[in-house]
Amino acid sequence: MKKLRLILGDQLNEQHSWFSEVNDQHFYVIMEMRQEAGYVLHHIQKLVGFFAAMEQFAAMLQSKGHKVIQLQFDDPENTGDLIKNLSHLIAKNQIEQFEYLLPDEYRLDAQLKSFAEKAPVPVIAFDSEHFLTSRNDLEDFFAGKKQYLMESFYRMMRKKWKVLMEGSEPAGGQWNFDHDNRQKMDADVKLPPKSAVNSDVSVVYKRIQDAGIESFGKIKPDEFMWPLNRIQALQVLEEFIAFRLPLFGTYQDAMTDRDAFLFHSRISFALNVKLLHPMEVITKCVEDFHKNPGRVSMNQLEGFVRQILGWREYMRGIYWMKMPSYANLNFFNHNRSLPDWFWNGETKMKCLQHSIGQSLEHAYAHHIQRLMVIGNFALLAGLSPDELDGWYLGVYIDAIEWVEITNTRGMSQFADGGIVGSKPYTSSGAYIKKMGSYCDGCHYDHKIKLGAKACPFNSLYWHFHARHREKLERNPRIGMMYRTWDRMEDSDKKAILDQAEKHILALNHL
Ligand SMILES: Cc1cc2nc3c(=O)[nH]c(=O)nc-3n(C[C@H](O)[C@H](O)[C@H](O)COP(=O)(O)OP(=O)(O)OC[C@H]3O[C@@H](n4cnc5c(N)ncnc54)[C@H](O)[C@@H]3O)c2cc1C
Ligand code: SF4
Repeated sequence: MKKLRLILGDQLNEQHSWFSEVNDQHFYVIMEMRQEAGYVLHHIQKLVGFFAAMEQFAAMLQSKGHKVIQLQFDDPENTGDLIKNLSHLIAKNQIEQFEYLLPDEYRLDAQLKSFAEKAPVPVIAFDSEHFLTSRNDLEDFFAGKKQYLMESFYRMMRKKWKVLMEGSEPAGGQWNFDHDNRQKMDADVKLPPKSAVNSDVSVVYKRIQDAGIESFGKIKPDEFMWPLNRIQALQVLEEFIAFRLPLFGTYQDAMTDRDAFLFHSRISFALNVKLLHPMEVITKCVEDFHKNPGRVSMNQLEGFVRQILGWREYMRGIYWMKMPSYANLNFFNHNRSLPDWFWNGETKMKCLQHSIGQSLEHAYAHHIQRLMVIGNFALLAGLSPDELDGWYLGVYIDAIEWVEITNTRGMSQFADGGIVGSKPYTSSGAYIKKMGSYCDGCHYDHKIKLGAKACPFNSLYWHFHARHREKLERNPRIGMMYRTWDRMEDSDKKAILDQAEKHILALNHL
């Protein structure tokens, strides 16, 4: 039977059972679509990363004997629209059955479901064979519960997949080693070597430019550092295990302008487009731990495993449980536009200058920059979650809605009112000072709340809590903060709130 099989840009899973046999009646279609390039304004490295990896995936399938239809931007047959292209290819090639892999984005899932209802041939959807949970597992696990605690989901996953377990007990005697992790990085800590992964993506870059696709951010097309195929993805993983995993947990939350990546793995893009499988990542790390006793301590390994086996699967479950309404949640009714410096990094606040600057330069920021610098500022300043989602979805190489929106709207903006987190992640300048080196040499002073040199985080922190008191003061994890506020003199409170208002009025000039 003649089959057309769709492969989307984040479905580059070479190990999928689809590819276990070569059949010249099976046509795999991989297309560059304007609808995907333009649903949000993307960083140029994100566009290039996806389209170059798709091109390499198509070439790999062809080299193994599979029949591949590739539609690139400059192909006259390419309408740029998923459904129009599929309808055309089905008719042109006398296709008898259309098959697709379940998409991870709600938008594409809905589009393909609706196509299936009126398609001229039978349609079958297949699992993407990537995740360690199915779409509804998390919802089933938390059925009847008011709170969706990541920690309990993670422990279930450890037991289910027998990861870091000794019988029914957690290896090392604890589920969580956070208290050993999350240290500040001293200036003399030796950073890991730069990744050796590098590609020339000039051809793909030119095709995107010629097609007139709008983008932002920087790129060096002859020095592209994101992995574009499985060999490169495995290399990034090997480099992580060799040089970064030994200190991953220790410096997981550290912030410094010495480097963009520190001890982070940089595998999110490879994982999210499915060049890597989450279990192979975990298995390789655990195997190394056993093969080389003492090289990596349990706190580093467990801290890393939790991100993949816990947070990543948890966020996906929340997405499928709560979409599509999740995308409109705005618990605090924040609606202020993003300051201009989100697009150029030109702010006097050194923490934001560096975190946004490296996002524009590398299409990457590590977790604590996304959460406690950029997200924290956005929340305190009352920026619109819609605009912010658009920015996060566009700027990061690894941004796909299921993992972007749950992290941005949920974890970082608390716009879901507490589905993902039990309290908003906010801090004054003190936390940023404690965890990093940004405050040294900043135009502002992290110790000061008032005046021209006052760190904006300090007054905005109180302004946020004061303006949302009704919604937050009954939260047991925040109550203490209101008691501190209430003990302040009225005149001090007024001065702080006035200072915050000044910052808010001058967001573009901070
Ligand atoms: C506001 C905000 C937006 C984010 N947007 C995205 C996004 O669009 N895409 C994305 O993949 N991650 C996102 N994250 C999660 C996390 O910041 C990135 O996965 C991580 O920074 C990627 O870099 P890395 O591969 O070096 O990760 P590492 O720090 O080395 O972590 C290893 C892996 O764990 C997984 N992971 C870690 N934290 C999370 C998390 N909170 N949720 C899901 N997976 C996690 C990722 O797959 C990551 O590659 C976001 C976090 C925040 C706070
Ligand atoms: S002083 Fe304030 S604005 Fe400057 S780096 Fe520190 S936290 Fe950021």
